[in-house]
Amino acid sequence: MPSKENLLVVNNFDQDTISSLDERYSTYHLWGHSAEEKLKIIQNLQGKCRAAATGSWDCDKCIYTLNSLEIIAAFGVGVDGIDFSTTLKHGIRVTNTPGVLDDAVAELAMALILSTTKHIIEADNFVRSNSWIDHSFPPGRNLAGKTLGIIGLGRIGEAIVQRALPFRLKIAYHNRSPKNLPYTYFPTIAELAANSDILLCMLPGGDKTRNCIDKEIFQILGAEGVFVNLGRGTNVDEEALIEALEQGIIAGAGLDVYANEPEVPKRLQETRNTVLLPHIGSNTLEARCSMGNLVIKNLEAFFSGEALITEVIQ
Ligand code: NAP
Repeated sequence: MPSKENLLVVNNFDQDTISSLDERYSTYHLWGHSAEEKLKIIQNLQGKCRAAATGSWDCDKCIYTLNSLEIIAAFGVGVDGIDFSTTLKHGIRVTNTPGVLDDAVAELAMALILSTTKHIIEADNFVRSNSWIDHSFPPGRNLAGKTLGIIGLGRIGEAIVQRALPFRLKIAYHNRSPKNLPYTYFPTIAELAANSDILLCMLPGGDKTRNCIDKEIFQILGAEGVFVNLGRGTNVDEEALIEALEQGIIAGAGLDVYANEPEVPKRLQETRNTVLLPHIGSNTLEARCSMGNLVIKNLEAFFSGEALITEVIQ
């Protein structure tokens, strides 16, 4: 029987997928080790290990010292955890898991839109704390007739649109270039914010989108506006967002992602007009299973010399 290929597993991105990888390959788990131990593991694999699997959002830079590394199979679609300057320089190929998580993330986007505009979490607390006995609950807002402005209308953005239209939301968007779609395109985020009631960020992370949603955007969105972010926390100037929430510059926010996860600033936690989720956009059993299968299929294709299924082309 041929010996199993070696595989470096960089972080504990998904237990079921990692268990499947453990069965298929001779795996070397990097997490939980000191920096020195990690380098030792890699040193022992020089020339003998061609592949690594990792969460797409976080990839320990030490793996780039593995001189025989040819492929990084990433679990997730947002590949801002990968150092593409290094992968391109060394001809290391990268795969990710696009498409299979769109339903999960789009459903959560609707949950954030609904919970922020209808104050669902506060209403639940209101009942549990018996406040209903003495007070009436403040009104929320209708979605019908409002405009949902999407920054980054890609695969997930379009899945959100499919769900937003039955709520009779109007759709506007900003990408670097317009798409052949019947929604209003704005060439800048500022113009989109000026024409949106709910501004939703679905952008990738990385230097090109860092802090592109800043104080000015929140001022333009205005006191009735709601901000929702399921893209990346690094897309937002988090300090400006906190000020906008504290000072009523915007009405509220629904957030799944943060600038320095899993750290969430105390001041943000203390804002009352927010719904804060722990980056669970793709965290459904169905999406995780499909993402894991895609990681495995990409690795199988690589080791059998076939075309990669979902290669990231930079
Ligand atoms: P996608 O299909 O590539 O869509 C991204 C969209 O953003 C594209 O339409 C692109 O259009 C636009 N875009 C990219 N760079 C831009 C820039 N600098 N300025 C303006 N628009 C820009 O990706 P997706 O599958 O929808 O995923 C989008 C992102 O969602 C991921 O990268 C990840 O960060 C995030 N995500 C989060 C979760 C979660 O759990 N919260 C889960 C999955 C994904 P143009 O190229 O025309 O600009």
